[in-house]
Amino acid sequence: MPDQVRRKIRVLFAAAEAVPFVKTGGLGDVAGSLPAELRRAGAKASVILPKYSFIPQEYQEQMVHVADFYVPLAWRSVYCGIEKLTYHGVDFYFVDNEAYFKRDAAYGYFDDGERFAFFSKAICEAIELLPELQCDVLHCNDWQTALAPVFIREFYQASEACRNVKTIFTVHNVKFQGQYSDKVLEDVLGLADNPTAAGQLYCDRDSINYMKGALCYSDIITTVSPSYASELQMPFYGEGMDGIFRRRSASLRGILNGIDVDAWNPATDELINHKYSVDDMSGKAEDKRLLQQELGLAEDPTRPLVVMIGRLTNQKGLGLVRYAMSRLMERGVQVAILGTGDRDQEDAFRYFDWTYGDQMSARIAFDNALSHRMYSGGDILLMPSEFEPCGLSQMIAMRYGTLPVVRETGGLQDSVEAYNKFTGEGTGFRFANMNADEMANTLLSACELFWTDQEAWAKLRRQAMETDFSWSRAADEYMGIYHDLHPEIAR
Ligand code: ADP
Repeated sequence: MPDQVRRKIRVLFAAAEAVPFVKTGGLGDVAGSLPAELRRAGAKASVILPKYSFIPQEYQEQMVHVADFYVPLAWRSVYCGIEKLTYHGVDFYFVDNEAYFKRDAAYGYFDDGERFAFFSKAICEAIELLPELQCDVLHCNDWQTALAPVFIREFYQASEACRNVKTIFTVHNVKFQGQYSDKVLEDVLGLADNPTAAGQLYCDRDSINYMKGALCYSDIITTVSPSYASELQMPFYGEGMDGIFRRRSASLRGILNGIDVDAWNPATDELINHKYSVDDMSGKAEDKRLLQQELGLAEDPTRPLVVMIGRLTNQKGLGLVRYAMSRLMERGVQVAILGTGDRDQEDAFRYFDWTYGDQMSARIAFDNALSHRMYSGGDILLMPSEFEPCGLSQMIAMRYGTLPVVRETGGLQDSVEAYNKFTGEGTGFRFANMNADEMANTLLSACELFWTDQEAWAKLRRQAMETDFSWSRAADEYMGIYHDLHPEIAR
């Protein structure tokens, strides 16, 4: 063990989105919540993200100009401003360049490859130039920041500020990898004359894959649940990267995300009709009645109310639900779905709503307030996903005593403990295969328990509600990794 220094470990968290400034998916939640928890766990954590023009004005007005410099990007020299805002105790640094980030949305532009190569290079340059951004760990997330671990090794290794920086790359969604024509190698990345680097970035004969770069260069790779970390090593889930995940399996960890346990709390939630807690569940029964009323379902406490909340895309296993719907209806189960997504999925559920009257409701909308009322009013949350890196809905549902029925994949498998009828243990119900009958059997056996054994049901609810899904557990695990990378810094 080297001589240890006593100071806080410095973590720079790099992401293309962070709540409350910009959010398109789960990454925004993570970047908005985790750094504050890392601070509480003893790190000096800051966040760096692009300064998009659509960040709400109230935040833009609070930003303070810290520095500006020029970033070398192949043959270009590109302006970069750094603005700072402290939010809930965490310093957020915004990379400013209007040519790249004065757009209507975060992604989806022809030059995304160049925009996020710039962002990644600007991060390295900022670490080198600005003492307040110096860090021990650079924690990058998804393809938009995937080049930073590559650049820091290839261009900044000689710099005093960068030499000891360790890099972590977290995969939130392996579907989006940032793949571009190999012209970027010379024109944007400036790596055409570096065959070692180029070799690690090439994925096909003539395309460059940013995520592959991060997977090869980062000291540690993490993803958002332990099961997804195993699945990424399989061809079915790995989206072409499974070979690299297998090669780097010794450096690959899965850490389950948390949820915002203050925002999702039935005892204090202002968006639900009746608040309740694990010791007094009477409010939940009332919430169920009001939800049935609101959705045009029969107001009947004896019918299990199955809710689904999420994007209506193939990933979510909706084919199984469609196949099993008539069987569920015949058994007297109520189903309520809230979501938007693919047109054919939306239409299928509109059709069920129309066909099954007061037993089925489909709200094709994005409605946060209604989602709270559904989490609190439901008995069961159904989530038969084909794959699910982490999944938030099942954790939120458990917090509201709405028992999840999930397929055993990714974060669903890691967060839901299967009901054991012999011991009464568990926090929900699970099935293994992408098979509609298997899903329906599991769901109906959950309903059977709901109908026949209220005591066992109440016990499961209590266990689900008492499970710890806070970010502090995840933060502790990340802190363990950071410190393992820097044994010279005392814990
Ligand atoms: P994913 O990230 O794949 O979309 P998650 O389960 O991780 O799925 O997160 C989805 C989050 O978005 C949950 O908090 C869920 O409540 C919310 N959500 C999804 N669709 C809707 C909707 N139509 N209305 C309100 N909230 C929604």
